[in-house]
Amino acid sequence: MSNLLQSEIKFLKSVGSKRAEVLNTDAQIYTWEDLMTYFPYRHTDRSKFYKISEIKNSMPSIQIIGKISHPQEISGKRFKRLTAKLSDETGSIELVWFQSVKTIKEIIKPGETYVVFGKPNFVKNIGFSMAHPEMETLEKWKQKPATGLLPHYNTTENMKKIGLHSRGMQKLQEILLQSVKDAIPETLPDWMLKKYKFISRSHAIRAIHFPQSIDELKHAEYRLKFEELFYIQLGILKARNYRKKNTPGYNFRDIGKYFNEFYHNKLPFELTDAQKRVIREIRHDTASGKQMNRLLQGDVGSGKTLVALFCMLIAIDNGYQACLMVPTEILAQQHFQSVKKFLGDMDLRVELLTGSVKKKDRTPIHEGLSKGEVNILIGTHALIEDEVKFNNLGLAIIDEQHRFGVAQRAKLWKKSITPPHILVMTATPIPRTLAMTVYGDLDISIIDELPPGRKPIKTWHSNDSQRLRVFKFMREQIAQGRQIYVVYPLISESETMDFKDLEDGVESMLRAFPRPDYQLAVVHGKMKPDEKDKAMEYFKSGAANIMVATTVIEVGVDVPNATVMIIESAERFGLSQMHQLRGRVGRGGNQSYCILMTKHGLSETTKQRIEVMCRSNDGFEIAEADMKLRGPGDIEGTQQSGLPFNLKISSLGKDQQMLQFSRNIAEMILDKDPELNHPSNTILKNTLNEQNKHRQNWRLIS
Ligand code: ADP
Ligand code: MG
Repeated sequence: MSNLLQSEIKFLKSVGSKRAEVLNTDAQIYTWEDLMTYFPYRHTDRSKFYKISEIKNSMPSIQIIGKISHPQEISGKRFKRLTAKLSDETGSIELVWFQSVKTIKEIIKPGETYVVFGKPNFVKNIGFSMAHPEMETLEKWKQKPATGLLPHYNTTENMKKIGLHSRGMQKLQEILLQSVKDAIPETLPDWMLKKYKFISRSHAIRAIHFPQSIDELKHAEYRLKFEELFYIQLGILKARNYRKKNTPGYNFRDIGKYFNEFYHNKLPFELTDAQKRVIREIRHDTASGKQMNRLLQGDVGSGKTLVALFCMLIAIDNGYQACLMVPTEILAQQHFQSVKKFLGDMDLRVELLTGSVKKKDRTPIHEGLSKGEVNILIGTHALIEDEVKFNNLGLAIIDEQHRFGVAQRAKLWKKSITPPHILVMTATPIPRTLAMTVYGDLDISIIDELPPGRKPIKTWHSNDSQRLRVFKFMREQIAQGRQIYVVYPLISESETMDFKDLEDGVESMLRAFPRPDYQLAVVHGKMKPDEKDKAMEYFKSGAANIMVATTVIEVGVDVPNATVMIIESAERFGLSQMHQLRGRVGRGGNQSYCILMTKHGLSETTKQRIEVMCRSNDGFEIAEADMKLRGPGDIEGTQQSGLPFNLKISSLGKDQQMLQFSRNIAEMILDKDPELNHPSNTILKNTLNEQNKHRQNWRLIS
C-alpha cells in the first residue's frame, strides 16, 4: 500500500485534529484510505432541470428553476413551520421547512429566482410540496454551477455540526482525490483487468465519487464490488484449503454392527432421499482421513436428529465416542429421550449431561466417558467443561449452532488429540450467499425435503380487533383435542417491557380460557430449569391445552398434538425466528395453523415480512427474503458471530450474483495456484496478506 494513503486523516488539508476526531469516532475514518473508501450511498443527477408541470409522484430528488414568493410562518400545535411558493412559467409548488424556520425566513428573498433541489411529495389539498430543499439563487449558482452526478454520503449529527454534512464530505473527497493524484495502487493483476474488463482501481475510485456519467458509475461499482467480495472469497477458500490439507482426521472406515442393526431392525420409517444423501456425504468425509467440518442445514422438522444419530453410530462402529451438544436444557432432554427411544434395547450407553445434573450423578458419567464406556453423550454446554474427558471422541455434533459462540465450538475441537469430526446442524436456513461468506470454511449439506405426509401449515395475519375471532378458533381446536402455543417476544433481564407483555398476555388468556374448562402452562426464560421442565411436561403430557411462552420454545420442542401457533407482536420478530416458531406445529398428522398477531399501522417493510410468512412455508425462501428486507446483519445465525468483516460497497442481499461470480474466479485461481506463488498473482497474495492484517479471526469461524 502506498504510504500516502496511510497518512492520518488529520493531515489532510482542511481537516485538522478536531474534525479528525469526529471522523474517527463517527465514521471510522482514520486514514486517507479510509476516507477514500467511504463510498457515497447514492448520487443525484444535477444535470437536468424539470418544469413544474412535469413533476410526477414518486420522482426522486429533482432540480427546478423558479421564483420564490409568499414566505409564511405557520404556528402549528407543537411546531412552527415555514412555507413559500415556488413558481415557474408552467405552475407552482409549495416549499416547506420544519426546522431552522427563523434563519431560513431571513435568508429567503421573495421575488428572486432560485435553483431548487429536492424531492417532491404530493400532499392532499396542497399539491406538490418539497421539504427542506437545497437551494441557492440562480445568480450564485451561475458562478459555480453544480452539475452532473453528485455523491451523497452518510453523516451523523456530530459530523454535521462541524460542517461535515454530505456536501462537506463531498468537498473533503475532492481535496483528497486532488492530493493523492496517481498514488492509488492497483489491487488486481493485469490479467484479471483484461480478462474481465475491469477499470483500474484508480479510475474506479475517482468515478465512484465523481462519475462523469451513469455508465461510468456502473463500471466503477462493478469493479469495486467485485474486488471487495473477491478478496473475501479468496481469503476464505485459501484458509479452507490449508485446513483441509493440514488437519488430519479419524478414519471411519467401516459401517458395522450398530449402524446395520439400527437401520434394519430399529428404524421405524424409511429415510427420505435427502437424509440418505446427507448421510452418504458425511460418510464420505469421515472416511477420507481428513477432518470433517460440515454444516447441515435443514428446515424445521426435516429430520436432522436422525441423521445425527446415524453418524454417531458410524463413529461407534469404528470404535469412537460421539457427542451431541444443544443450546438448551429442554432440548437436551428431548434429544436424549428420543435417541434412547430410537435405540431401544440396543447395547449402547447413552448419557445426558446438563447444568442441572447433580454432582453425585456426574461422577459416574465422567468415569464412563474417560473409560470409553459411554458411547454417546448428549448435553448442553456442560459437556465442554474441562472436567469432561473423553476416551476417544471421534465425532462432535452441534445442534442449532447459531446459539453457540466460536469459542465454545473451538473447545470441542480440543476434546481429542486429533480433532474430532465436526457436524454443525441448523434449522435456521442461511441463505447461500451468506453461508458462502460467513461459513465459507464449512462444507455444506442440505436436507431439502420433509418426511412424507406433512400438511403445509396455514398461516394468516390478524390484529387486536379480530382477537375474539382468534379466541373462537382456539376454542374450536381445543374442542377437537388439539393444543396451542401462544408466544410473546423474549424476556431478557433488561427488557421489563417484554415481561409485561407476557404477564398481560397470560392474564387475558386466563380470562378467555378460564379454569377448570381450560388449563394453561407458562414458560419463560426467567424460570428455573426444573420449573420450566414441569411446565413443559404439563403441556407435553396433554394436560394443558395452551402453552403461553416466550421464545424459549423456539428450538426443537416437539409436541405433535399441537396444531396452532399464535405469535403475539409478530412485528417484533425476525422472519426466520417466526419460521422456527411455526415449525413447532405441523408435526403430527393434523392440519396446523399459524396466526401472526400484530398491532395496527405497520410499516411497509413489516407488512412485506408478514406477507412472506403467510405466503411461504419454505425456510430458505424466507431466509432469502429476510436478508433482502433487513440486510444480512440481522439474519439469525449471524448475530452471534457477526459478519467478520465490513462490507463497504457490496451487499450480501443484493449482490448475490457478484458474490457467486467472485467465488468462481477465486476458486479457479486457487485451483491452479494454491499458494498464489505465480508471479502473475503476486499482487493477489500481497493484497490478501495486507487485508488479513486488518481482519481479526475470521478464519476461526466454523
Ligand atoms: P429437525 O431437528 O430437523 O427439526 P427432527 O429430527 O426433530 O427434525 O424430526 C422431526 C420429526 O420427524 C421427528 O418426530 C422425527 O422422528 C420424524 N422423522 C425424521 N425423519 C423421518 C422420516 N424419514 N420419515 C418420517 N418421519 C421422520
Ligand atoms: Mg432438531
